Amino acid sequence: MGISFSPLALTQALPFLPLAQGDIDYQTERRGEPDLIDATLAEPATKVILTRNGLIAVPRGQGELVDYENVKLRLATLPGAYMADELKANPEAVAMFLGSYGGRRDEHVVAVDITRVAARPAQFGVDDGTNGSSRGSAGGVAGVSHSSQGADAAFDETPASGASGATARKSLLEQALDRFDWVDLRGFAPHASAREAGQATTAISLSIWHNRQRHCPTCGAPVEAANGGWAQRCTNESDGRRLLFPRVEPAVITIIVDSAGRALMQHNAAWKNPTLYSVSAGFVEAGENLEHAVRREAMEEVGITLGEVKYLGSQPWPYPASLMMAFKAHALTTDVHVDNVETVEARWVTPDEYMAAIISGRMSAPGKATIARYMIEEWLGHEL
Ligand SMILES: [Zn+2]
Repeated sequence: MGISFSPLALTQALPFLPLAQGDIDYQTERRGEPDLIDATLAEPATKVILTRNGLIAVPRGQGELVDYENVKLRLATLPGAYMADELKANPEAVAMFLGSYGGRRDEHVVAVDITRVAARPAQFGVDDGTNGSSRGSAGGVAGVSHSSQGADAAFDETPASGASGATARKSLLEQALDRFDWVDLRGFAPHASAREAGQATTAISLSIWHNRQRHCPTCGAPVEAANGGWAQRCTNESDGRRLLFPRVEPAVITIIVDSAGRALMQHNAAWKNPTLYSVSAGFVEAGENLEHAVRREAMEEVGITLGEVKYLGSQPWPYPASLMMAFKAHALTTDVHVDNVETVEARWVTPDEYMAAIISGRMSAPGKATIARYMIEEWLGHEL
């Protein structure tokens, strides 16, 4: 028995990265259909998932589970039939056709981003539950379960009779804010099925882009969603109604290993957890190739000259738009000189020394959704 691979072609070195396991068929050939979203929503087996501010909706009560081991999380899913009217009534919502399982006639998944619905001025005088994005905080989670109604994630209910008049006038998409818990990928992915983690990763990647880019970068005209939510179109005729695609920011992440088999573990100034150690990482500069970025980052952060650089695998990290490309690099020098700006500490450790530091609590490992953790496990030869 060999290693089995995700359909999204991971490498043998890192075959099971948590944000890169999606097995949905994008059905890219359908994206040009003008009524793709409406047609998909009308089909009985279509499911809708919701995003907001870089967070994904899970059934109420699940948001508080993300910090526990061995719990399963799932996406809140809504039947498509309710959503077509909601989208017409809430033009600020962005619908994205994620794809299908089992071919054209089987299960389709549409993601709907309600960030701008939720951010609408509170014309109903209701607490909008705005909770400050948890994007910056590692493992951060935003539960917004205000409502005292006991109903679970069901959109097919009319508002409970005890609800105030203000609540009763809210649209279903506005109610979604309170009816679900909202979690980020760092909290969701380690507890989710590969399939749902993949859906969440794609939905969050696209929705963050739609919310950050609302005007054409060339002419400044407003944009509208296009190609089933996978693109935008500039609305300016004189700019040729230019088609715009999501921005992806390439980043390299490198485990640096010396000839004795030790790995270099680094602590960043920006990390709140003083025991967190990870590997070298940074953005690719304009006009730079990946291998150069790997060597440059190692020199800048820890003063190490690298020899051979080997590709391990990649993982999307949509906070806001990174694509993490992982490498293992052989150090030609071992004297560490941290830059004291980004990297404040770096230590060579053997696998035994690393495990001892982890067990004693002197070091902690990157989170379970991160590619860095899998790179360290690949070096150790076992799971953490
Ligand atoms: Zn334009």
